[in-house]
This record gives sequence, C-alpha cells and structure tokens, in this order.
Amino acid sequence: MTDVCTKYESVFAQWVGVSNAFSFWKGRVALYAILEALDIGQGDEVILPGYTCVMDVNPVKYLGAKPIYVDIEPVTYNIDVNLLESKITTNTKVIIAQHTYGYPCEMDAIMEIAARREIPVIEDCCLALGSKYKDHTVGTFGRAAYFSFQWNKPFTTGIGGMTVTNDSELADRIETICQERLCQPSFKAVFMLSLQRLIYRLFIYPRTTALAANIFRWLTKKGVVVGSSSTCEFAPEMADNFFMAMSLSQSRAGLRQLKKIEANIAHRKQMRYVYDDLLTRAGWTVPAIPDTMDPVLVRYPVRITDKATALAKAPSAGVEIGSWFECPLHPIETPMHLYDYTDGMCPVAERASRQVVNLPLHPRADEKTARKTVAFLTEFNQAQA
Ligand SMILES: *Cc1c(COP(=O)(O)O)cnc(C)c1O
Repeated sequence: MTDVCTKYESVFAQWVGVSNAFSFWKGRVALYAILEALDIGQGDEVILPGYTCVMDVNPVKYLGAKPIYVDIEPVTYNIDVNLLESKITTNTKVIIAQHTYGYPCEMDAIMEIAARREIPVIEDCCLALGSKYKDHTVGTFGRAAYFSFQWNKPFTTGIGGMTVTNDSELADRIETICQERLCQPSFKAVFMLSLQRLIYRLFIYPRTTALAANIFRWLTKKGVVVGSSSTCEFAPEMADNFFMAMSLSQSRAGLRQLKKIEANIAHRKQMRYVYDDLLTRAGWTVPAIPDTMDPVLVRYPVRITDKATALAKAPSAGVEIGSWFECPLHPIETPMHLYDYTDGMCPVAERASRQVVNLPLHPRADEKTARKTVAFLTEFNQAQA
C-alpha cells in the first residue's frame, strides 16, 4: 500500500468519524471485502432492499450466498423496516442498509432488530456521503459501511470505493484478505481512467451529460474505456481481477475532492431546498422527510407519469434527468432470474422504478438548472395529464 492511498484512507476515515478505512478500485469491491471478512458463503442469506443496483448483489452471489429482497417504503425509497423482521431466518448473516438517494434509513429500527437477532449491518453509503440520522453520520451505525466514487456519486474519482469500520477485528480480517489477494490495476486501466477524468472535467456539464453518458456506455461495451460496469458483470460470476486495489491517481483525486467536501455538501443541501420550493410552487407534492433525518441527496427523486418519454425528451430540452433505479436491480438489462428476483417480490419498489426520475444537484447544477428542470417536468407532466 502506497503512501497516497494510506493517506486518502486515513483522511476519509477521519472525515466519516471511524477508525479504519480501506480503499478499492470500486464500491462493489469494497462491499465484497466486507462480506468476505464476515465469512459470508454458501447457504447464507443477505438481506437487501429490492431497489438497488445489481452491482450490489454481485458480491453476494460471488460468495455463493442468497440475496433476500425486502420491499421499500415509498417516501425515502429505503428498506421498509416493518417488513424487515419477517425476512430474517436462521440463515440470515447480513442486513445491508442502503441509504437511497442520500435519505438515511430508519437506523434506530434497523439496529434494534439487528442487535436482537445478532445480525451485522452493513451500510451502503454509495449515494449518501455526509447524510445524518439523529446527528450521526451514515457509515458509523453498522458493523461496516462502504462508499463509491463512481461518476454519478456524491463525489467522483472516476471510479473508486471505500470500506470503513470501527470494528478492529473486522479491520484486521479485511487487512489480511487484502494482503493475500488484492490485485493491482493494470497500467492501461489506470491511464485510461485518468484520461476519462480529464475528459469528464472538460466536457461534462448538465447540457451534455446524457449524451456523454451514452457515449461512455457505448465505448464501455466496445471495451475501449474503463467502464463502471463491464458486460461480464451482468452475470453472477466473479472475474479474476475483480478484487482490485485503488490506484494512486484515484487516491490523489479523492484527496482533492475531500478538500471540497463541505462546499459540496452545503451545495447539495441548498439545492434540495431549492427543488422543494420550486416543485411545491409548481403544484408538486414533495416528500415529507422525518426530522430525524438530515439528508445530503446525490440526486433529487421525483415521481412522474411517463418516465420513458420524459427521459427520451430531456436531452434535447437541455435538461439532465436520471433514470435510476430502472428496476428493482438496476439497470433494466439485468437478468433478474439470475439474481433470485421474481416479479412482484417488491411491488412498492417496482412502482417506484416505473415512476421515479432523479434531478441533478451536483456542484455543476445551480438554481437556474433547477428552475429549468422543474419547468420541463411540470410542463411535461401537465401535457400527459
Ligand atoms: C453505485 C452504487 C454501488 C456500486 O458502486 P461502484 O463503485 O459502481 O461499484 C452500490 N450501491 C449503490 C446504492 C450504488 O448507487
């Protein structure tokens, strides 16, 4: 482990407020490290919300464990704690609490059930950097947590992931697993990723994001760029080089991003109120988030009537709206049967997948962006009605 990576890990751990952090090539690798360190394997069950990214489920499947999906509640899109306990069996080994869009989960209820049933909780903080629940930062509640620094996340290093934990025994096991098996990214992969970060900085701003995303996706499928997901990751078999370390250049980028983190968070909080206000004034009902939650949103979710058409029309209107999650195991291409999901398992999540689009609140989106986005959605929704 090089100095820059170690420094990024320790600065990140300190910022979250935990004692240990481990950096990885991607967020999904960070989850894999935790599951492996918790000894998850054949016959074990891992509880997840049925409204997630398939890349979250892959590590569970790689280890031979079975994902058990719990439906979400419709306001914060997080795991419905009233349904959680009924899904727990003697085989349940982990509960993954995903803080969707940045809304923190009902951590008191989850931790109470988990403690009583003696099941470790892993927090998925990939979309929730800096969100708080009852004044505590997400990532500090569970046995461990993980973060992602992929393009769409609260801040990006191109791709990248981090595991954090306060449990020194678990940290020791992760350390050992990393020493034994973690592989280093190839020179080519690191170089291409650095190039992509440069392109991203130069060209991607709200107007062109949809176009750029499409180009990226296409190039990824062609194997030209280091995508966040390669085609082989749509099947539950682990690639030889999956368990990969974070590169120096990602760590350097991460350290730079961390210097701007407070401004990033302040901006996201401010933008959330801007959207609340604009949407309310345009006649939308905005989500009633409990006072116990102080979310830092990664994107602002809104339910609309005709998601597919809105997504198709947005780019030409110069509006950046996102589609996740497109189905309970995003994206829509996921072969659901390979991941033990059958239609109707999580009806609330399925409805959300059909209705929810998400609006930008990243540092490049400002009040003007929000006004334009809300105007587009309002006009569009009225035309559909
Ligand atoms: C992006 C994401 C991940 C995976 O992160 P990667 O860095 O792309 O592997 C996991 N969970 C959620 C909720 C995410 O949004």
